[in-house]
This record gives sequence, structure tokens and C-alpha cells, in this order.
Amino acid sequence: MAKEGHKYIFVLGGVMSGVGKGVVTSSIGLLLQQKGYPVNLVKVDPYLNVDAGTMNPTEHGEVFVLRSGMETDQDMGNYERFLGRDLTNEDYMTSGMVYQSVINRERALEYGGKCVEAIPHVRDEILRRFEDAAAYNGSRVSVIEIGGTIGDFQNALFIDAARVMHMRHPEDVLFVMVSYLPVPGTLGEMKTKPTQMAVRDLNSYGVQPDFIIARSKEPVDDKRKEKLAVSCSVRRDRIISAPDINSIYEAPLNFEKDRLGDALLTALNLPEKRKASLAVWKKFAAAVSNAKAPEVSIAIVGKYFDTGDFVLADAYLSVIEAIKFSAAKLGRHAKITWVNSKDLEKGGAKAVNILGKFQGIIVPGGFGESGIEGKIQAIRFAREHKIPYFGLCYGMQLMVIEYARNVLGLKDANTTEIKKSAEDPVVDVMLEQKKHLADNKYGGTMRLGVYPAYLKKGTMARAAYKKELVEERHRHRYEINPAYVKRLEDAGLVFSGTSPDGVLMEIAELPRTEHPFMLGTQFHPELQARPLSPHPLFTEFLRAATHKRRK
Ligand code: GLN
Repeated sequence: MAKEGHKYIFVLGGVMSGVGKGVVTSSIGLLLQQKGYPVNLVKVDPYLNVDAGTMNPTEHGEVFVLRSGMETDQDMGNYERFLGRDLTNEDYMTSGMVYQSVINRERALEYGGKCVEAIPHVRDEILRRFEDAAAYNGSRVSVIEIGGTIGDFQNALFIDAARVMHMRHPEDVLFVMVSYLPVPGTLGEMKTKPTQMAVRDLNSYGVQPDFIIARSKEPVDDKRKEKLAVSCSVRRDRIISAPDINSIYEAPLNFEKDRLGDALLTALNLPEKRKASLAVWKKFAAAVSNAKAPEVSIAIVGKYFDTGDFVLADAYLSVIEAIKFSAAKLGRHAKITWVNSKDLEKGGAKAVNILGKFQGIIVPGGFGESGIEGKIQAIRFAREHKIPYFGLCYGMQLMVIEYARNVLGLKDANTTEIKKSAEDPVVDVMLEQKKHLADNKYGGTMRLGVYPAYLKKGTMARAAYKKELVEERHRHRYEINPAYVKRLEDAGLVFSGTSPDGVLMEIAELPRTEHPFMLGTQFHPELQARPLSPHPLFTEFLRAATHKRRK
């Protein structure tokens, strides 16, 4: 049901993708929230996957898991980080999800014998979801980002749904177009033409942008603002310059300088409740991009490294951000180096020595066999050379395998994800997962979302969190095999976090007397790290890393 007077801001991309629609959406959310309006942010992805869970991170970036367990696009992570709160299933939709509900309804005879068509039925389903997101979150304003660009064929139904929403509630709906102004090297002059063409494209849907966010290398000057205003029929004060910045966290500050928040409220007919107070955010943004702060060097040993730096950073986005937040809190600048675990394997016994120059080592989440032995070598090196180590999900499972092999002497210890016939399956598929795998049911079937864990007294985990019960987000099919827990404990490994029934091992660590910081989590702590509340485990890991002398 439509919520009376609820406000919608649709964020659309013109010219090309990848210029920061997600950051614009997140920044608008933060600004309005700071001005006293509860906001929810919605990501619309036009692809046919029902969720992002089945996509390869090298192609599509990280899979961000919501509290509920829904596997979503990495932009949702940025939304949560900017708003500083959890989002819900209603805040995410894909074409696959929309079509699936329409088709299910058709199979259940719910269309009463009608011919079911893209327009109106699929469009109406999109509208229903926009309204659900508004109703469910108790927000006053929904900022809805439509992925891709205006011209994309697969976006048409979403843009049409937005148009209908505007037609029904003209006072309550705004369109913000994020555009790009290229500066061709030969000319050295910023060009507005592609933006003009994108507006024309949008006009062909019957939609006129109210705001243009003009992304470019440099600030957009008055002359070009004037030109855009006249040629695109957008008020001059609603053309917002958005030059490249050092860190995405500066974006809301820049927008506020251009008074974007006020302009949006005016356009939505919403009174200003209070001045946006961005002082705390400003301090954080300055700390996070302070390259002059003393460095702490961290190696991330992973495998999604085949497609160059750009994609790689996306595949581990939340991990990188979590490191940055904790480093900023400690007044440090984290220098992250990517170490390809396959190179460690290829390089022979000595290759792993390069890890000696880092102050901390992370093995992040992952799946499958490739690069595994390299990661295990890295973990052994971290343990034996007392380099702070933090294992995230797979990084915890492999840490336990390394311990079983090299401390317990179980030479064939492994995970059944890689070796079904392993003599010592110290990591094994979870009982309820066996059936999913046997039935080829891969989508949305892992152990997903928030589960509680109890923390043992006297452990590093308990000292970091400063509480007994924590809730963290998961995404895995395998677990530490309960049959090996006692032997591992007897050999010195501490399971400092477990599920409330004590069956599932959630955190493994070595006592501080043995190692400055050697800890792995079955969950993904990075998913809940926020700018103004960094994750305690990342902070403790980095604190230990800063104490390690650099070589
Ligand atoms: N592949 C492992 C599992 O499924 C770890 C998953 C992960 O790191 N997210 O349990």
C-alpha cells in the first residue's frame, strides 16, 4: 500500500556507469538523515539473477549479505555504511526477483485468467515493491538507485515504474540524474554534450530530471552549469558539481557545500527540521584519507586477483573499508598489499618469505580449491613468525586446517569442500547443507545472515567485543567438524566463540601468550563495520599489527 505523502528520490545514471551513482545515493541518504528525516535506500539491479549470491565477485564485486541473510549487491554495503544502520530485503530488488514473483503468481492463478504482460503486470510488481520498501522501513524518504544507465534496454520497466509513481504523486517524486562530463585530452575542455543526450534519452521515457549531479575530474564551472541548465531544462541551482575526490566519504561534505540537502528538501516540499550536523562525519572523513598518518602494512592473501587492481578491490570491498575504519580510529593509514595465493604456491618454499615484511596478514572469505595451499602456507608463516593474523570465514577454516596439520600432526587434514576423501576432514559440510548440494540448490541456500555467538571469558574475542553475546553475519556451507574440536583444543587452539548450543565453532584463536593476534571468524565481521563504529575485531587486529615492528 502506498504511504500517503511518502517521498521518493530516483537516482538514475546518464552517459556511463561506474561514475558513482551509489555514492550519490548514499550521500543523499546521509544528508537527509542528518537533517532529521528517516531514510531508506533501495538498490534496483536490472539483471535476471534473483539475487547477487550466484555471481562471481571478479565480475560483479563483493556479495553483500544483509542482516536477514539476503545476498545483495555491494552498493547495499555502502548504503549501510553511510546510513549507519541495517537495511532490509525490501531495499533490494532485481529483475529476476520481480519476474519470479509475477510468474509464481501466474502459476497460482492469481491473475484471474488474464494475459500477464510486462506492462502493466511486471511494472505494477515493481511499483508494489517501491511502496513496500517505503512502508516497511518507517522512513519518510526513499532514495532509489536504478543500476546501469538510462539507455540500458533492461532498465526500461524500472524507469517506467518511476514515471508512473511521479504521475500519481507529482509532489512527492524527484529524479536525480548522475551524469559524467568528459574532458577529452586533445581539447582540455569539459564537454556537456553527452549529458544533454542522456537527458534527451530520459525525456523519451516521459521523465525529466529535477537535479543533475555533474561528475567530472574538475569542478564544473559557471559557464557549463549555465549551458547545462538551458539545454537540459534543469534549474541552475539544481546542477550540482561533483569533482573527483580522495575518498567516497568526502562526497556528502562536498554536496553539503553546494547545499544539495536543502535544495532536495525544498524540491520535495519538506521543511528543514534541523541543520545537518556533519562534524563527526567530517572528522572521520579527514582521518580516513589522511595519507600522512603513520602507516600500518597489511597483506591480504586471496585468489580473486586475476583481473587487475580495479576489480580486485571490488571483490573485497567490505574488508577494505573495515580496515580503513579501524585504521582511522587508531590514527593510522593502512597500506594494503594484495598477495596472490597462487603465486605463493608457484614460488616454492621460499616464496612465502615475502610476507615477513608486513605487520599484519588477512586471509578473507573464499570458495573452492584454487590457491588454497598458498593460503595455508601464509597462515603457517603468520603463526610461526608471530605476525598478527586475521582469518575471515574461509580464512578461519584454513587456519584450523593449518593448525591440525602442523601442530596436531594430521598431515591429511583438509576441508571436504576440496578433498571429500580427506583422512581428517577437520572442516566438513554442515548437515543441512548436504541436501542442498545433492539437489544442486545453490541460490540462497548457504547458512546466511545473522546468528548469535557466545564468547568465552578470558579470550581475545571477549576482550575485543567487551560483551558475552554478539550477532554477526554469515555466508558459508562448511563448518569446523565437531569431531575434532576436543583434539584441537587439547593441542592449544581456543574456540572463543560458539553458537549458543555450543555445537558450531564461530571464532578460533591462539592464546595471547602464544601469539600477539591469531584469530579467525566463521562469520564475516567486515559486513557490520561502520565508519563511526569500526568493528572491534578489525580494530584489535590492527592494534596488534601496529605493535609489530616493520622490517
Ligand atoms: N567456502 C567456505 C564455506 O562455504 C567459506 C565460505 C566463505 O569464506 N564465505 O564454508
